[in-house]
Amino acid sequence: MPIEIRCPECDEAEAIRGSEDGEVVALTCDACGFEWSRDPSPRCRSCGGTDLFPAIAAIVEKGRGTQLSIVGTRVEYLCETCQVGTLARYFKNRPNPLMPDELPNAR
Ligand SMILES: [Zn+2]
Ligand SMILES: [Zn+2]
Repeated sequence: MPIEIRCPECDEAEAIRGSEDGEVVALTCDACGFEWSRDPSPRCRSCGGTDLFPAIAAIVEKGRGTQLSIVGTRVEYLCETCQVGTLARYFKNRPNPLMPDELPNAR
């Protein structure tokens, strides 16, 4: 496979296992155990562009009180054309996962 796949969590490139599940490739990183899936041809829903960056996005739930807790992460493809601001925010906060634009139950 000529495409280099890196773990979005730990940047591992060697110990990646993949299994095809229909159109989507399910990937597992043996280095850190992160699992994600890769759409072979992800497209931006706004502009249809293919310059997408796989960012780690936080799955957030409201915990006790007013605290928001991160319950997991998933890969979210950010368009390098339409989501420049979101991408910049993501890179600025790395290695923290991208927080959703709208927090559940946030004021
Ligand atoms: Zn990894
Ligand atoms: Zn776009």
